[in-house]
Amino acid sequence: MAGHQLIAIGSYFEWDREAMSSEYALHEVPNADAALDLPAELRAQVRAIAFKGHTPFGEKHMESLPALGLIANYGVGFDAIDIATASMRNIKVSNTPDVLNDDVADLAVALLLAQSRKLIEGSTWVRSGEWPNKGELPLNRKASGRRAGIVGLGRIGREIADRLAAFKMAIHYHSRKPKDTPPSWTYHADPVSMARDVDYLFIALVGGKETAGYVSKEVIEALGPDGLLINISRGSTIDEPALLEALENGTIRGAGLDVFNNEPNIDPRFLKLDNVVLQPHQGSGTIETRKAMGKLQRDNLAAFFAGDELITPVN
Ligand code: NAP
Repeated sequence: MAGHQLIAIGSYFEWDREAMSSEYALHEVPNADAALDLPAELRAQVRAIAFKGHTPFGEKHMESLPALGLIANYGVGFDAIDIATASMRNIKVSNTPDVLNDDVADLAVALLLAQSRKLIEGSTWVRSGEWPNKGELPLNRKASGRRAGIVGLGRIGREIADRLAAFKMAIHYHSRKPKDTPPSWTYHADPVSMARDVDYLFIALVGGKETAGYVSKEVIEALGPDGLLINISRGSTIDEPALLEALENGTIRGAGLDVFNNEPNIDPRFLKLDNVVLQPHQGSGTIETRKAMGKLQRDNLAAFFAGDELITPVN
């Protein structure tokens, strides 16, 4: 234990805790509101926090830390943090981009394969001991060689598209502007027109207010009855009630979802559906990547305290 005071908000792995406490006087709290209860003398001294989790960190939290200069976020998605207020108060925010792209893209492809090839049902088929009685698993659907559309060709979206190209798929994408891509990829200015032209829709947008409901009822309807929707971004990017309705009515064939509104207390209607594969927001959840995320968070903290440029600034 040494050095600057550091509040770590959220639940950290032992390797992160050890690394942070070897550099800083570490004060761990489970969530942002719990930081409000720390002694006022401590809060007055704190210049940086390590932030982890999805519960909001807003004005009242920033006000309670008058010397705050950095919120070092663990994760690439920073939608829990009120960036506009942070910027107004001259508080820098950093995140952990790129180091998690592979894992999240891998999970997106895994969700497509699990959904098309019925991997969860196949596993249950064998484990239940019913294989000798029931015989062959009912036929499922070919995954390769079809048309995939990516909503949001950012860092993770691009990794998803590159993987799907290796599955012999025609790649379509929607971003706010065309990107530098292989010439065979098709750009769509309108997500509805793209959804109409593809079999699979992958959502890789940032979360937050600006993209809330971006994948609208119209986009979902345009995907059509043979379409699969895969979401690894945030629950908020999709009109979730419209998605539930489409899945219940078979307006689309199915979905693979790692993210939801109101996690972990997701809408119970999802649990009744047999045309969705559900994951507990585990896109970046490998030991390798979580270690890399923790290290990048700490590297940003170290840069801040050294007075250097942040490595991965957000604002
Ligand atoms: P990124 O490189 O910043 O890409 C984000 C995409 O969102 C870009 O394509 C961007 O569009 C689009 N976008 C941003 N603001 C928009 C707006 N106002 N309207 C329309 N589109 C907008 O981010 P990334 O590193 O790929 O990460 C994407 C998201 O994945 C993260 O923000 C996070 O929420 C999520 N994520 C989930 C997990 C998980 O565990 N499931 C793990 C990591 C990340 P343009 O292409 O037009 O710029």
